[in-house]
Amino acid sequence: MDSLAVRAALVRKIEAQGVSHPGVLAAMRAVERHRFVDSALVNQAYEDTSLPIGLGQTISKPGVVARMIELLCQGHEGRLGRVLEIGTGCGYQAAVLSHVAREVYSIERLKGLHEKARENLRWFRLSNVHLLFGDGMLGYARGAPYAGIIAAAGGENIPDAWIDQLAVGGRLVAPAVTGAGRQNLVVVEKTPRGVVRTELEAVLFVPLKSGVA
Ligand code: SAH
Repeated sequence: MDSLAVRAALVRKIEAQGVSHPGVLAAMRAVERHRFVDSALVNQAYEDTSLPIGLGQTISKPGVVARMIELLCQGHEGRLGRVLEIGTGCGYQAAVLSHVAREVYSIERLKGLHEKARENLRWFRLSNVHLLFGDGMLGYARGAPYAGIIAAAGGENIPDAWIDQLAVGGRLVAPAVTGAGRQNLVVVEKTPRGVVRTELEAVLFVPLKSGVA
């Protein structure tokens, strides 16, 4: 498929939604999302929707991927350093992150999806993406501290391990259940004077679960 043209159209939609970070838009333009979905869904790969990837999980909506990565990059010049992603799924967002960060650690709790992501990403030969199998609620201490942490699954709270593993000056972007009982995007900045938490718009992500399966 002539995917460059359809991706460019998708990126224009994402820009119209308010995402303006040039590095993020370039990454969205570069990564071939159709390589992360089943062949039956390829013709929907450049619509701004989430799609099933098996085991009850979904590939995130491109507009939300772009929005979250823009939030992650906010206030930061040039490439981010090490980034941790919780919830690899099919590996799409990890591939996008690989364009804006020096190193990407991405952890998935479902073995089947961890393996699927490895297969999907092989084609891209991204030497800076490190796929891990495990419970991302514990973060991944060996890669810490992180310049950025991004979660693709939403829990009741932001796990303490994530805040602990964030570098001072780093940012965390995650869906979490807020006071209203809904899921919202939450940004946590770790500053020298402490942690600053900001709640943004409502979102709909698959649940963050503990343990592996
Ligand atoms: N990043 C993916 C989105 C995958 S959906 C994309 O690019 O589209 C979110 C994923 O989070 C699911 O695969 C789910 O299994 C995973 N997940 C949920 N809780 C987790 C946890 N505690 N640790 C690691 N992965 C988790």
